[in-house]
Amino acid sequence: MLVRSWPLALVRFHRSVLLTSSFFLLLSCSSVADNVHSGTPQGDSLVQSNPAKVYAANRKMASAAEILARPQVPVLCYHQIRNWRPGDSKQAKDYIVPEQTFAEQIKMLHDSGYHSISTNELYNYLCYGDALPSKPVLLTFDDTDLPQFTIAKPVMEKYGFKGMFFIMTVSLGRPNYMSREQVKQLSDAGHEIGSHTWDHKNIKQYTDADWTTQIDKPTKTLESITGKPVQYFAYPFGLWNTAAIPHLKDHGFKAAFQLSAKRDNNEPLYTIRRIIVPGSWTAANLSSWMKHSF
Ligand SMILES: [Zn+2]
Repeated sequence: MLVRSWPLALVRFHRSVLLTSSFFLLLSCSSVADNVHSGTPQGDSLVQSNPAKVYAANRKMASAAEILARPQVPVLCYHQIRNWRPGDSKQAKDYIVPEQTFAEQIKMLHDSGYHSISTNELYNYLCYGDALPSKPVLLTFDDTDLPQFTIAKPVMEKYGFKGMFFIMTVSLGRPNYMSREQVKQLSDAGHEIGSHTWDHKNIKQYTDADWTTQIDKPTKTLESITGKPVQYFAYPFGLWNTAAIPHLKDHGFKAAFQLSAKRDNNEPLYTIRRIIVPGSWTAANLSSWMKHSF
């Protein structure tokens, strides 16, 4: 498929460079996009046929220090959107936002003047300094839970908001998880689809085979569903290490999202911070946090 043809060529090119030189490990913002436009004939022809890519190719990417110096955009992370059940532990409730609470939080964001942005907008802001709307916020959803489609999608769309959904492909079509068709509908409605691996294995423990099972196959699956490239990744459990980052570049990702640990000094694009919105937070709690924490 066209969307995948040039990244695969790039992956091979990039892998050979990585194997022979540690130089790339030291590059901070040497994202895939930076190298896409310098290499293969397919990449060049694609660039020439797309004015937006020509523009991107001619722009200088920010250094890691420049990216770290930009004001951070709040990135919220949601898991389950459902009402609490008697058996839910206190800890579990951090990951379970009741339906009404979610609706109130999103309404608060809208009524307070926040604008939801896409991951691509965040990327272009970080890398090129592109302007963002006032009071930007990026809404992300992990783990493929069905209520993200049935509950969160209509609430967001009521206010003109879009989300990034990080999909764990092993769950597609299972009870209480989204189906392939629902992922397609999210994408068609203008929401973004990112990778959250095949079955949520901790990236720190990957073998060579895991880079195929947990990364390449899910990317192909999601791209075949949406017809769009998968360019962004969310670390399972928010856990990452510096050893994984060259692999993520090698396997075609432009940026990756963790949770709330400090960003890496050399790789801020691959350690973008997010905050899990606890189910116990009222809209007022979230409002206060938005003002003071980023
Ligand atoms: Zn997860």
